[in-house]
Amino acid sequence: MDCIFCQIIAGKAPGEILYQDEEVIAFPDINPVAPVHLLIIPRKHIPSLADLSEEESPLIGRMVNVANQLVKSEGIAESGYRLAINCGEEGGQLVPHLHMHLLGGKRLSDALG
Ligand code: 5GP
Ligand code: ZN
Repeated sequence: MDCIFCQIIAGKAPGEILYQDEEVIAFPDINPVAPVHLLIIPRKHIPSLADLSEEESPLIGRMVNVANQLVKSEGIAESGYRLAINCGEEGGQLVPHLHMHLLGGKRLSDALG
């Protein structure tokens, strides 16, 4: 098991788990680029968004729902936030386990690409 996110899921890597259920977990990004920078990931090792099957696609809705809960506890539900999924090399994906970034707590960059 050489996937760092699978190790976090298995409790074999240090990290504060902020949310977990049977399908999804969330924890702070180790290298935050905003005051709030959380990662929301499926427990299942799906390498990237491009590998998500149609049957698995409801997972994305669950991840968004978790994000919408976390922004309340993080106090940024009203100020605004951004969800981002990087996919593949040109999409900027570095960790090959599907994950959603939750960013907020400051005025985020207008640049998306
Ligand atoms: P990507 O570029 O793949 O979309 O984002 C990967 C993110 O994972 C980066 O923001 C990086 O800081 C974060 N990350 C990489 N390794 C670890 C780790 O071991 N623990 C945590 N909490 N975050 C990590
Ligand atoms: Zn994994």
